[in-house]
Amino acid sequence: MDRSPLLIVGHGTRSAAGVAQFAALVERIRRRAAVDDVDGGFIELSRPPLTDAVGALVARGHRRLVALPLVLAAAGHGKGDIPAALARERQRHPGLRYAYGRPLGPHPLLHEVLARRIDAALDGDDRAGTWVALIGRGSTDPDANAEVAKVARLLWEGRGYAGVEPGFVSLAEPSVPAVLERLRRLGARRIVVAPYFLFAGVLPERIGAQSDAYAAGHRELDVRVAGVIGDCDALADLVLERHAEALRGDIRMNCDTCAYRVALPGFADKVGRPQTPHHHPDDPADGHGHHHHHGDHHHEPALRPGQVAVVGGGPGPDDLITVRGKAMLDAADVVVADRLAPAGLLRGLRPGVLVVDAGKVPRGPAMTQDAINDALIGHARAGRRVVRLKGGDPYVFGRGHEEVLACAAAGVGTVLVPGVSSAVAGPALAGVPVTHRGVAHDVTVVSGHLPPGHPDSLVDWAALARGRGTVVLLMAVESIAKIAGALVEHGRAPDTPVLVVRDAGHPGQRSWSSRLDELGALAAREEVRPPAVFVVGPVVDLRG
Ligand code: SAH
Repeated sequence: MDRSPLLIVGHGTRSAAGVAQFAALVERIRRRAAVDDVDGGFIELSRPPLTDAVGALVARGHRRLVALPLVLAAAGHGKGDIPAALARERQRHPGLRYAYGRPLGPHPLLHEVLARRIDAALDGDDRAGTWVALIGRGSTDPDANAEVAKVARLLWEGRGYAGVEPGFVSLAEPSVPAVLERLRRLGARRIVVAPYFLFAGVLPERIGAQSDAYAAGHRELDVRVAGVIGDCDALADLVLERHAEALRGDIRMNCDTCAYRVALPGFADKVGRPQTPHHHPDDPADGHGHHHHHGDHHHEPALRPGQVAVVGGGPGPDDLITVRGKAMLDAADVVVADRLAPAGLLRGLRPGVLVVDAGKVPRGPAMTQDAINDALIGHARAGRRVVRLKGGDPYVFGRGHEEVLACAAAGVGTVLVPGVSSAVAGPALAGVPVTHRGVAHDVTVVSGHLPPGHPDSLVDWAALARGRGTVVLLMAVESIAKIAGALVEHGRAPDTPVLVVRDAGHPGQRSWSSRLDELGALAAREEVRPPAVFVVGPVVDLRG
C-alpha cells in the first residue's frame, strides 16, 4: 500500500467546536500510522491555514501528497475553491505534486454514523414511528443538492424509518421549516432532524434553532435534533479509504450532472466559470517581491453566491467604473441599480441578470432605503450574487455604508468596491483640478441637500467661508442661491470663481462659469438641473 502523506483540507468554520473536531480527526488519523505523515489546514476562516499545513509537510521533506477535500459532497469548495488554493500552494513550492481525493459522501460508513446519531436521539423509541429530516448544507450547485437527496434515500433503504426526506439549511429548498411542514402533512408525529454535516458549525446550530422554532409552533409534534457526524473512527476509516483511492489514480467525479460542465436549467451561467482561490486571513501577503503571474487575479475578492458587492460605478460613462467593479458586474446574478448608476453598464450585463431599478417603483418616486436593504438581503439569502451599483463612490454621499451595515446585521457578507466620485471627477472632466500646487492645498466635499440654517445641517458654513481652499458641492442645485449667499456673508470673496458641471462625463455634459455673488442668478437663469457639481475656489481659474 502506498503510504504517501495525507493533506486534509477543510473549508473553515466560525465555530471553535468545529475546528476542534477537525483537529481531533487529523490527530486520530495520525495515530493510526497508516500513512507516512498527516497534516490538515483550512482555506478560510479557521486556523491553521492550508498554506501552513502544506509548508509543514514540505518542511518535513514531502513533495508528493494526497490532498483530500474534507467535504461531504462536491460543490463550490470541492470543485473550485480547494483546487484553486492547492494550485497556489504548488506555485509556492516548486516540485510539489498532489493527487486529489474524492468528496467523502455518499458512503455506507457515513450512513451508518448518521443512523447511530439518529438512534441516539431516539433513545430507544422505535424507528418505524420516526420520520427523518436529513438536512444538508444547501448549495447553488444542483449536483450537490441532489447528493443530499441520494443520501436521504440510501439512509431510508432497509433501516425501517417511516421515511427520510431531504432538506437544506441554506441556498436550496426545501428549507428546514418547509421540510418539517411537509412531514407533518404526511402524518408524522415524531421527527428526528439529522444534520448531514461533518462537524459543529454555524449552520448545524441554525438547523437546531430552526427545528426548535418549528416545534414550538407545533406542540403536537415530537421533534428532536440529532448530532453531527463528528470526529469518529468511521470517518477516519473513510478518509483513509479516499486516500488509498486517490493513489489508485482512478477517481472520477460525476461530470454528467456537473453545473460547471453541463448547462443545467437555471445554472447555465456556471459553465466554464473560472475559479479564484480563497484568501485565508493568515495567508502571507502576496507578491513577496518576486513572481506575480500575469493573469493571476487573486488580489480581486471574488463575488460569491449569497454575497452583496456594493460597487461604485463612477460618474456616468460606462468606462469610468473600476476593473474590479466591472468584474463584480460580470459575476452578478442580480443588480440593484441607483438612479445615478451608469445606465450603459446595465445594458452590457449577461442575459438573464435581474436588474432592480431602485430609482423607480411602480407607484412612487424611488425605493426607500429599507426596501433596498431588504431586496439586497433577500436576493443574497436566496443564494444569488448581488451587486448594488451606485453612482460615483459608494461612500461619498452614497449611503453605501448603511447598506453594508444592514447586510452585516442580517448575516450577509459584503464586498466594497470603491468608485470614481463625481466630487473629484466632475470638476476634472470639465478641466478643473480640485487641488493645484500653490493654489489650493485643501478640498472640502460638501452636501448641499440641506440649506444653511437648516436645523438638521451638520455643515459649518461659516468655517467653509473663512477657508481659502476648494469647496465642491454635491446635491446642491436646489439650495445653491442660499449656499452662495452664506459663503459670501461669512467672508468668501464675492468674486470667487465657481464652475458648475452638469452631467459630467456624459455626452450631454455642460458647464457654466460664474462667481459666488452671481451664482444663484446664473443657476436660475440657466435652469441648472441635477446632477450637477459646483466647484468653488481659485482652482476654477486654472481651467484652460
Ligand atoms: N456617490 C456619488 C454622489 C452621490 S450624491 C459620487 O461619489 O459621485 C448625488 C450627487 O452627485 C448629485 O446631486 C450630483 O451633485 C453629483 N453627481 C453624481 N454624478 C454626477 C455627474 N455625472 N455629473 C455631475 N454631478 C454628479
